Amino acid sequence: MRHPNFELTLEFAREMDEKDPLKGFRNQFFLPKKKGKEALYFCGNSLGLQPRTVTTYINKDLKKWANQGVEGHFEGEVPWVDARKPSKSHLAALLGAKTEEVVAMNSLTVNLHLLLVSFYRPNGKKYKILTESGAFPSDQYVLESQLKYHGYDPEEALLEVSPRPGEHILRTEDILQKICHYKDDLALVMMSGVQYYTGQCFDMKAISREAGLHGIKVGLDLAHAIGNVPLSLHDWGVDFATWCSYKYLNAGPGNVSGVFVHQKHGNDPEIPRFAGWWGYLEESRFEMKKGFLPMQGADGWLLSNDPVLGLGALQASLDIFSAAGLENIWTKSELLTGYLEFVIRETIGSRDVLQIITPSKPKDRGCQLSVLIPEGGKEIVEKWTENGVVVDWRKPNVVRLAPVPLYNTFQEVFAFSKILQASLT
Ligand SMILES: *Cc1c(COP(=O)(O)O)cnc(C)c1O
Repeated sequence: MRHPNFELTLEFAREMDEKDPLKGFRNQFFLPKKKGKEALYFCGNSLGLQPRTVTTYINKDLKKWANQGVEGHFEGEVPWVDARKPSKSHLAALLGAKTEEVVAMNSLTVNLHLLLVSFYRPNGKKYKILTESGAFPSDQYVLESQLKYHGYDPEEALLEVSPRPGEHILRTEDILQKICHYKDDLALVMMSGVQYYTGQCFDMKAISREAGLHGIKVGLDLAHAIGNVPLSLHDWGVDFATWCSYKYLNAGPGNVSGVFVHQKHGNDPEIPRFAGWWGYLEESRFEMKKGFLPMQGADGWLLSNDPVLGLGALQASLDIFSAAGLENIWTKSELLTGYLEFVIRETIGSRDVLQIITPSKPKDRGCQLSVLIPEGGKEIVEKWTENGVVVDWRKPNVVRLAPVPLYNTFQEVFAFSKILQASLT
């Protein structure tokens, strides 16, 4: 947000922190240290911090396992057969989905393959897939290998929307125009919600609408979107989506992903899928009968029994999101990211040393700013690192900074301005 009253002073940053309705939440996380001092951790886009309550949540099930063994599956406050259930309403709130449209399971890349089995259904001339150029490598490999699996040549069947020459971010009109232009060839539009490299938040509503008009399925990879930007997957008519829980969701390294399957598909048992016993009608799952009958909703895509310990860590964080309130998070995110943008611009002044490539309109981004440093970027960022800043450098010349509303502060952003200043002299 272009806040007219932003000031590059410690007093201003202090005052903003004082007024912040989420100020108490920082203490609910462990803050990494560098050289004995609290780090300036701007890397929640890569790995969210650990909620202090995680061990309590996991210990409950460790104790249950120790004391009850196998009976834990059917006993206790949340029997392990139901372990995924408490997370559903929380995930639905974050995604703008109905509870039955979401379920936590597997990991992101695995889920993407499973969802494509169901929703990438090439038919005659309509077999191409459209995605953004420079998509996250795992997503590129998924699309490439799925196309080959169906007998197509990715060189020809995978279309990309690219930024215009000299630009870094995609224009919504170019995405929509490309969908419309290739409407007779496309079976699927598969994009990220927030682009991992540029931090651009795509207009998911407009993209879903345009694709829907032409009978093209839309899938979203929400790795950088969930917990970062408001989403309304149900109302937008997105067909399917997946995400990971270890970035903005703070659920811990490699922890459980999840899928969204829109209600319009969720109750159709005829949709082809790779099935497993946990997706079978739960009333009669343990009758162990032949012939797969899926549960209703996203649960019908489950394969395996729930990863109980991982779900405990996820729940610890989801409960923090609920306590903080999503509106409060989005409001602070806009202010804090706006402040970082202001601070960077003020600090560099008229020097041409770096360029923020993330869109400056709040609706077009979350809390990540991607900064392009055309020359000597690696050395500059090393100076930040020596001074306790945790960020991530992406070859060839972009550094990503994410001030996360749940645990970062305005004073940290101010402190960064001093480090930035020193690194440029
Ligand atoms: C982080 C990320 C992944 C990671 O995939 P995993 O299967 O969890 O290893 C995939 N895609 C995108 C867009 C990501 O940002």
